[in-house]
Amino acid sequence: MGKFKPVKPKTIGRGAQKCQRCGSRDAVIQKYNLYLCRQCFREIAYTMGFKKYS
Ligand SMILES: [Zn+2]
Repeated sequence: MGKFKPVKPKTIGRGAQKCQRCGSRDAVIQKYNLYLCRQCFREIAYTMGFKKYS
């Protein structure tokens, strides 16, 4: 029997996500099915009307 490694997606875990907007991996937020770093999230959230994030 050979060794079989189950394929684990690397999309799970800290630092695996990239910001869809600027490509940064710094503090990527995965809320609302968005993958955005904090800065981009703030800008987009503001645009979308989430004015709480200020
Ligand atoms: Zn970004």
